[in-house]
Amino acid sequence: MLNSTLSELSAALAAKKVSSVELTRLFLDRIKGLNGRLNAFITVDEEHSVAQARVADQRRFRDQAGPLTGIPIAHKDIFCTRGLRTTCGSRMLAGYTSPYDAHVIERFAAAGAVQLGKTNMDEFAMGSSNETSHFGPVRNPWDTTRVPGGSSGGSATAVAARMAPAATGTDTGGSIRQPAALTGICGLKPTYGLVSRYGMIAFASSLDQGGPLAKSAADLALLMNAMAGFDARDSTSVERPAEDYARELNMNLTGLRIGLPKEFFAEGVDPEVLARVREAIRWFESQGAKTVEITLPNTGLALPVYYVIAPAEASSNLSRFDGVRYGHRAKDYTDLNSMYRRTRAEGFGAEVKRRILIGTYVLSHGYYDAYYLKAQKVRRLIARDFADAYARCDLILGPTSPSTAFPLGAKSDDPVQMYLNDIFTIPAPLAGLPGLSIPCGFDSKGLPVGLQIMGNYFAEAKMLGAAHRYQQATDWHLRVPRETAL
Ligand code: GLN
Repeated sequence: MLNSTLSELSAALAAKKVSSVELTRLFLDRIKGLNGRLNAFITVDEEHSVAQARVADQRRFRDQAGPLTGIPIAHKDIFCTRGLRTTCGSRMLAGYTSPYDAHVIERFAAAGAVQLGKTNMDEFAMGSSNETSHFGPVRNPWDTTRVPGGSSGGSATAVAARMAPAATGTDTGGSIRQPAALTGICGLKPTYGLVSRYGMIAFASSLDQGGPLAKSAADLALLMNAMAGFDARDSTSVERPAEDYARELNMNLTGLRIGLPKEFFAEGVDPEVLARVREAIRWFESQGAKTVEITLPNTGLALPVYYVIAPAEASSNLSRFDGVRYGHRAKDYTDLNSMYRRTRAEGFGAEVKRRILIGTYVLSHGYYDAYYLKAQKVRRLIARDFADAYARCDLILGPTSPSTAFPLGAKSDDPVQMYLNDIFTIPAPLAGLPGLSIPCGFDSKGLPVGLQIMGNYFAEAKMLGAAHRYQQATDWHLRVPRETAL
């Protein structure tokens, strides 16, 4: 059961081979056994989860069940949950319980899914290693001396170590795809606007997008069917007819045009990562897909542009944490200003403070044009690169991350090295485009390698279809880390 896909779990529930209460308890026990070592969950409330499972079982009894009814799902601690505290990985919100549910949480509740707990993450989703969390780092189940990636590292480790059948995450510059790659699972960052940001604590609003993490592409499709959908409370939510993200799972690969951006196969990428990605590409060719050399000439500018725009938006979004409205308030202060100052000094960690400083600087009078406005213009050029590329190909393939999982502490003193880890995941969200990461093999240390599959706006079904076809022919996605063997 621990290793089953969502459709297998769904079938077992439907056939009454297992109840949701039993299934939920099974995963809660697994969390109890492993969380001390892996630190994937910040908050678990067994009674809360089991009560939801009971409701799901009754719903099934009344024949009102859908495919996800009764399946336990872990949620990144960035999604507000009524009745279960929401910390966003920060001391600032360590004692915060939201009075309402995020749209994504409402959608899963409507589908009858069970909340399994809240997963660890980099503080306010700022990071690529999960080391900025106030609740301590998450460990990679493939090698517990290494990071799981970030910022959705808790969700990724939970799925990789089979502590949860699936999880939610958010991706601003790679936070779903990079941890999926580093832990050997699948993660989808949807087209901007498909998944509502209502109740998803904001980092950089023009980039943030929620999405699923799971063992297989087929599972991601099921989760997207529940998560995506118009929500009037998010002004950037896209209003379009509901779609079935599983509709192209059996797509024909013959004639599919796969773009290979030369910038993604350049120096600086771990040769073992490139070798695994090339092998996967050869498999697609063997199925009749055609590869096309393309160029995304502004790839080198994506990182500097992101590190102007994301901190700018973060500095504005995080101004609400002031000791008055939400979360932490300093105990000792003399007047209003000292209360603000102390609250923010105590509540935020070093990386969050760094981003607030950068963001405030690039938005300040006199620098706004030189940094922020310029970055927005280059962002437009990056989007144009993709538009040109998708005129020549259907999907773009390449590595998700330039390296496999790195040791804890290896990059934490050097922010630029840490930022460079996101070089291949940052371009898509800058253009609002979707991206998917699936496992495509291992390096010589036994660490998973991620293949990134990118597509045009709203091409999720096609991306998932191509991934599913690959997963029918390979078993990388079914491997379980030895450290947490079942
Ligand atoms: N690692 C990137 C950052 O630190 C992206 C994080 C994210 O996607 N939330 O900003």
